[in-house]
Amino acid sequence: MSKPKDNPMDNILSLAKRRGFVFPGSEIYGGLANSWDYGPVGSLLKKNIKDLWWKMFVESREDVVGIDASLLMNTKVWEASGHLKEFSDPLVECKKCHGRFREDNLEGDKCPSCGEKESFTEAKQFNLMLKTFLGPAEEEANQVYFRPETAQAMFVDFKNVLQTTRVKVPFGIAQMGKAFRNEITPGNFIFRTREFEQMEIEYFVKEKEWAEHFEHWRQAMWQWMEAVGIDEKMVHELEIPDGERAHYSKRTIDFEFDYPFGRKELYGLAYRTDFDLKNHEKGSGQNLKYRDPETNEEFLPHVIEPTWGVDRTILAVLVSAYTEDGDRVFLKLPPRIAPYKAMISPLLANKPELVKMAKEIFDDLKTEFSLAWDDRGNIGKRYYAQDEIGTPYCITVDFDSLENKEVTIRDRDTGTQSRVPINELRTFLRTGVWGEAHSQK
Ligand code: ATP
Repeated sequence: MSKPKDNPMDNILSLAKRRGFVFPGSEIYGGLANSWDYGPVGSLLKKNIKDLWWKMFVESREDVVGIDASLLMNTKVWEASGHLKEFSDPLVECKKCHGRFREDNLEGDKCPSCGEKESFTEAKQFNLMLKTFLGPAEEEANQVYFRPETAQAMFVDFKNVLQTTRVKVPFGIAQMGKAFRNEITPGNFIFRTREFEQMEIEYFVKEKEWAEHFEHWRQAMWQWMEAVGIDEKMVHELEIPDGERAHYSKRTIDFEFDYPFGRKELYGLAYRTDFDLKNHEKGSGQNLKYRDPETNEEFLPHVIEPTWGVDRTILAVLVSAYTEDGDRVFLKLPPRIAPYKAMISPLLANKPELVKMAKEIFDDLKTEFSLAWDDRGNIGKRYYAQDEIGTPYCITVDFDSLENKEVTIRDRDTGTQSRVPINELRTFLRTGVWGEAHSQK
């Protein structure tokens, strides 16, 4: 068991690796630059976060529908959206060590790699679109791009959504999934990678109502952060001033988080006007206007875009949840996103009657809850392991359980233990875990 180190990022990295949250990608082959794999516990955490988002913003609302589009889209999409021309970062190269860096991320005039002063070349724009080829011939004609954001599919599928659903402005189209960017300097663990996941909503409104919807989504993003367990004291809104916003945006707020490596972007909220639909109308030659069913008026809706990075959410959640209490390290994850809602274990693994009873409880509850089973070592070690992956409750069957049909439940945050009748466990886990989740909405 490793003792916590002083550097908070090292603590998170070491916990993530030893408990199976996140592994370096392709590790047995020496890795692949800044790629990461979510392990058994991390993939559960990620799934729970994405499920919560979908429940909160799609299933619980009448005004948002979801889509799940292809990662590869027609190149004309990226011509129309401006990504092929504009989606670039300023790249500089150190003349001494030939390291390449994003100019706007540099601090001072020293090369972050070799320390040489004023050694940078002039910045040139480097396009972040990631290319691949479809079909057997590697020629220009077959070249396509992986999507750099999930957002454009919501505009490209806008007409199909209008024709197949009963949505009326104001309404949103939501999507979550992978996006790819050929980042110049990926790094800081899962903060900046070339392959990552986003959760995005394009919310279509009447132009004159944009400000009130912007405010609604600003509040909704704060509610999300509370629900997912991001420490609100570590989040700061940054109003992007005129001249620094993307040219089509009339208002943008970045939500920044105090990561161990500094205050940087977590989420974004932008008013994108009718820029995207207008460009896709032009690019595709199709009419993408919305017809108001009451007035019969046709218009291009304006768009409010709240955007969330899944991987940055996971990082912010881990940083917020990481708690040291004396020698004890635990993740104070909200039960609704914890990889396991409870651990079930027999006090002793070599007592068949205890194992049998614990197994029956496990089999009965596992149809409804994600559960961990652990019968290794002593109970203290099992608690230690579950604390580190944020399991809210540890349920133990002991000799008394055989007599009085009660088990011990140990609470992750307080360490307190209570006795609960076995036939009340399901309700306990529902109200303690899912009951809480429902009351948030
Ligand atoms: P940055 O300024 O950090 O490069 P951005 O402003 O380009 O970010 P957006 O285009 O607004 O980011 O993307 C929306 C969200 O997607 C971000 O708020 C972030 O959570 C996530 N995201 C963007 N790029 C990456 C990346 N390379 N790795 C992980 N997550 C990312």
